[in-house]
Amino acid sequence: MHYDYLVVGAGLFGAVFARQAVEAGKKVLVIDKRPSIGGNVFTEEVEGIQVHKYGAHIFHTNNKEVWEYVNRFAEFNRFTNSPVANYKGELYSLPFNMYTFNKMWGVVTPEEAAAEIERQREAAGITEPANLEEQAISLVGTDIYEKLIKGYTQKQWGRPCTELPSFIIKRLPVRLTFDNNYFNAAYQGIPMGGYTKMVAGMLEGIEVRLNCDYFKNRDELDGLADKVIYTGPVDAYFDYKLGYLEYRSVRFETELLDMPNYQGNAAVNYTDAETPWTRIIEHKWFEFGKDAQGNDLPKTVISREYSSEWKPGDEPYYPVNNERNNSLYLKYKEMADAEEGVAFGGRLAEYKYYDMDAVIASALDFSRKEL
Ligand code: FAD
Ligand code: UDP
Repeated sequence: MHYDYLVVGAGLFGAVFARQAVEAGKKVLVIDKRPSIGGNVFTEEVEGIQVHKYGAHIFHTNNKEVWEYVNRFAEFNRFTNSPVANYKGELYSLPFNMYTFNKMWGVVTPEEAAAEIERQREAAGITEPANLEEQAISLVGTDIYEKLIKGYTQKQWGRPCTELPSFIIKRLPVRLTFDNNYFNAAYQGIPMGGYTKMVAGMLEGIEVRLNCDYFKNRDELDGLADKVIYTGPVDAYFDYKLGYLEYRSVRFETELLDMPNYQGNAAVNYTDAETPWTRIIEHKWFEFGKDAQGNDLPKTVISREYSSEWKPGDEPYYPVNNERNNSLYLKYKEMADAEEGVAFGGRLAEYKYYDMDAVIASALDFSRKEL
């Protein structure tokens, strides 16, 4: 059997491209070194609960085309992400909004909150934020930075906030309204029955080989197809010739608990520096509401997330998009662009902090050009 495309990686980029290619009449083989499809969005059922095995995933987008596309393969519920921050037992609403400001300072009106943020920003003397710390203080002031951002960010990234790019904190909305919705997105939800089911729908009728590492059978696999679509780490593709791109890895400590409700919310962030985990996810609340359905399940599954520096052999999760890595990536990109018969796409191959919707948009865009 000869294929038009060999897709390396059964994550969202690979699955969306494979779907589009097959619908355009191409023959496609998808491989993944993991035993499962879905890449990082893989979910598996435990006691009736969809467990997000590689970290909690909430689908959110402003892109109507992407929303309609994923709805072809799954029915989404109307989950709205509203994480709670736990700072040494003090609980705050996220993202930063009037509930957060009221709890932190006792302010009641948006005007009072804005004035307090402005006062703290001026006191810190920041005019042009040059890093994550300065960006955070200029957005929400010193108190919130110290209690809700500094410790969490340093645990998550393993670097001081002064050495991190500002864009990371700009992912979070800051609102002078009472609104705990974590995302500014027209569409948001969780696919009922899990992400794996959604990705299986994308891959329906397409040959998939799991437990198949591209680098272990490269020559043979290359010989099977006219073109390779590679969605793994770009530096691994070139055998780290120019050095390693840095990643953060995550270890998940998952427990099945004999109680219906552990923390009353899908995500609780531990924002102090001392607690060793960054957040605890209680998976059942993603799929089931906090009404009878979720509470009726007698058990619950939680995952504590521990962040660590990636080293060879670990799963790469978050690209560390600082200057050193971005300039190294550009060198790898030059090599990737010059590589014949191979295209590179997705979070690892493009070394970009992509959300799911952006990966799907990029795969659809790429498919339009390629097919
Ligand atoms: P991946 O899912 O990483 O897929 C790449 C695949 O390639 C993997 O399955 C891997 O095994 C395979 N592969 C790599 N090398 C090889 C090889 N040599 N041979 C064979 N196969 C190989 N986005 C959101 O929109 N909302 C969220 O709430 C959210 N939460 C997240 C939480 C965490 C902890 C993380 C890390 C990410 C989160 N994301 C979230 C981002 C989301 O996971 C990604 O945007 C998306 O899954 C990327 O898809 P991808 O196909 O590019 O990569
Ligand atoms: N962040 C924080 N405190 C929080 C939540 C987030 O300081 O309680 C910062 C942290 O630097 C994090 C970034 O905001 O890396 C982006 O958060 P997001 O929730 O988008 O991270 P992800 O879900 O991608 O891990």
